[in-house]
Amino acid sequence: MHQIDSSATRDDTRRPATASAATDLLPAFRAALATVRGDSVAGSDAVPAARAALRAAADTCRDALAARWAATQAEDARRDPSQRRVHYLSMEFLMGRALRNALAALKLEPELQRELAAHGLSLADVLEAEPDAALGNGGLGRLAACFLDSFAETGLASFGYGLRYRYGMFAQATQDGRQIERPDDWLRHGALWDIERPDVEYIVGFGGSVGSDGIGGRRWQPAERVVARAFDFVVPAHHGQRVSTLRQWQASAEEPIDFAAFCRGDHAGAARHQVAADALNWVLYPDDSTDAGRELRLKQEALLVSASLQDLIARHLGEGRALEQLGHGNAIHLNDTHPALAPAELMRLLVDEHNLAWDDAWAITRRAVSYTNHTLMPEALETWPLRMFEALLPRHLEIIYRLNHDFLNSVRQRHPGAEALVRSVSLIDETQGRRVKMAALAVLASHRVNGVAKLHSDLMVDTIFADFAKLFPERFINVTNGVTPRRWLQQANPGLSALLDDTIGNGWRRDLGGLDALRERADDAALGARLAAVKRTNKLRLTALIRDELGIEVDPDSLFDVQIKRIHEYKRQLLNLLHVVARYQAMLAQPDGPDGQGWVPRTVILAGKAASAYHTAKQIIRLAHDIGRTVNSDPRLGGKLKVVFLPNYGVSLAETIIPAADLSEQISTAGTEASGTGNMKFAMNGALTIGTWDGANIEMAQAMGEENMFVFGLRTDDIATLRAVGYDPRWIAGQNAALRGVLDAIGNGSFSPGEPKRYRALVDGLLGADPYLLLADFADYVATQARVDALYRDPAAWNARALRNIAGMGFFSTDRTVREYADKVWSGHALAPEPGRTSG
Ligand SMILES: *Cc1c(COP(=O)(O)O)cnc(C)c1O
Repeated sequence: MHQIDSSATRDDTRRPATASAATDLLPAFRAALATVRGDSVAGSDAVPAARAALRAAADTCRDALAARWAATQAEDARRDPSQRRVHYLSMEFLMGRALRNALAALKLEPELQRELAAHGLSLADVLEAEPDAALGNGGLGRLAACFLDSFAETGLASFGYGLRYRYGMFAQATQDGRQIERPDDWLRHGALWDIERPDVEYIVGFGGSVGSDGIGGRRWQPAERVVARAFDFVVPAHHGQRVSTLRQWQASAEEPIDFAAFCRGDHAGAARHQVAADALNWVLYPDDSTDAGRELRLKQEALLVSASLQDLIARHLGEGRALEQLGHGNAIHLNDTHPALAPAELMRLLVDEHNLAWDDAWAITRRAVSYTNHTLMPEALETWPLRMFEALLPRHLEIIYRLNHDFLNSVRQRHPGAEALVRSVSLIDETQGRRVKMAALAVLASHRVNGVAKLHSDLMVDTIFADFAKLFPERFINVTNGVTPRRWLQQANPGLSALLDDTIGNGWRRDLGGLDALRERADDAALGARLAAVKRTNKLRLTALIRDELGIEVDPDSLFDVQIKRIHEYKRQLLNLLHVVARYQAMLAQPDGPDGQGWVPRTVILAGKAASAYHTAKQIIRLAHDIGRTVNSDPRLGGKLKVVFLPNYGVSLAETIIPAADLSEQISTAGTEASGTGNMKFAMNGALTIGTWDGANIEMAQAMGEENMFVFGLRTDDIATLRAVGYDPRWIAGQNAALRGVLDAIGNGSFSPGEPKRYRALVDGLLGADPYLLLADFADYVATQARVDALYRDPAAWNARALRNIAGMGFFSTDRTVREYADKVWSGHALAPEPGRTSG
């Protein structure tokens, strides 16, 4: 099913001539530029001019991509019946910017640059004018975006499905160190990449009631109906002409206005349905601390699932295939539990709308559906209050009840008397006010369930899904995450890319495994020096960004120590800050350094958003600012320690920061970070990792050689032992004077003199329970940071290790990940003979 060599490149007859060569696109760009510049305030103001040029470039690329899209679809429609099309359902796609990627794929960059220069414009300004499409929260959403890139590159017949959030998640600003959330108005100057499909729309219902249809079936009469409209975002391959598609749904009311209400003069009433439908399009993750927010979220998930599956069925039938073959020809993949309604909705569509028999529909569903779990945190596994679920999706609840009934009966038959097991695997949780367990539904319906790194997949089977794994051991597998090297190496780090081409040839651009060839050159001092020169250029760029954004001067020759990711207690940004304060106090106590050699200058760089209702995470952001303000202005340090927090973390910011990092902080409590993908991006760009034995850090260490990573801290088995004997953080603080000094300073208001108790609760949380074991890992972390300093003093040794890091990263491309999914999860041949029973 995964044609690695795109045959679209060979089929020139279908391809419009305009899309064949970069030079053919230039006239289109000139014409587009002339039009849009005529409309805007050209010349005098640089921003509108760059924006006009951006629109012209996007229009030109988009037309070329649309031609490739048509060719790809035509090719896929003709594919062999045994080749499945993959439908990747995800509530998040963290796409970032698209222009630079499109220019690279279309090989248009040099010409466009010249053309812009002729108009007095710089390509950099034009690229910078593009807003990020930040339709996601973190790693899960970025993984989905990297997958789209690799779907195109590996030639997989596929559709990504998501929602078109008008205001993204939120834009983060900081005010006096506090996070401020604003709507991320990324479409304000108009959509650049979307291709609207006015003839692709589906009705999605909510609420209402279910009754008999009079001929033995069930009929759902929804109380509210919205129209889902399709917008396509086309993602090109870099080798070959294929593209992949992100189809995003936008909801609108079936009746745009209530005409009767309008005629009565009740304008608000007339718009009522439109506003209700539009609320589905506003933002990702409506704050789920309110019932209204939770309900909106469930409706968004239902919108995504229903529209996508209706689209899948329409396409399948439109290609002249039989409904009975739906499961053979299509894979439906759930990116975490957010789209886990899919099996229930597919059953509804097949049984109620297409009149298939229940068992046949279930066989198709089981064959099609697979699920990736992204977290072991119980609070992140979605469950819905039964009453809310029933009110919004009454027919789906009936279907879930019937699936559950059949399933639990089969469990009871196989395991008589095992009522605890039955309760644990039931799709309905009876313990905390009845709730629907979406992860259980996803596991029951899926023929494969995978974790995202080896450790996580093992823990998944040992912990949250232990009982399911007893019933269906063959379902559970691992597929380790990756990142797309096009964005995270080629685009983000052109300097390193050129150095790699020069050193090992450009084969790594096609097959990242080629990086392995660097290993034998790792001790080449001249090569190490060239790598360091590339790094320094990247650090200068980041230094300028920090100056522009924050007005803080940092030393480009200092060690850039970087932790950028969602702010969460398990990721332990606070442990990082404890080290910063320990270092600060040690620098004041021993100005000549711990060993008389002075202190290695460091710039600690943080970025990340805190969920809007997550108070502790927001306190951590504020503490980082308070520490930064204190440390950055302390003249006694001679500028040898700086702390900066860059606001509004996102894909584009990551692309600037990561190539400039010397040290990558991947310091989650062992067993909590499912995989991480930030860790991969950093190592690929020649940063050394300080990390715990967690997630994909483990496989990275094994790939590059453990001695090339700064590994520290308790491992999962140590943690289990510690918890078994009873973890006492206060005792640990009692043993460690440096740690006590740090906690006292933070807790007593040294960094918040105007409000001395600001961080009291944060410190009390550590001394009281410390659920993420910061204090337990503190001493080893600080000692390991000293080893980092020692290596940084020896540039040749540091550079050699950085080269070994890069050399070891060939495995961590999403091209490999996607091929593994295609082979182990999505290919028909991986399936056991169809059992045709609910029990699987
Ligand atoms: C890669 C990436 C992530 C994931 O980072 P982790 O360190 O693995 O949590 C989150 N957000 C953005 C913008 C990313 O690019």
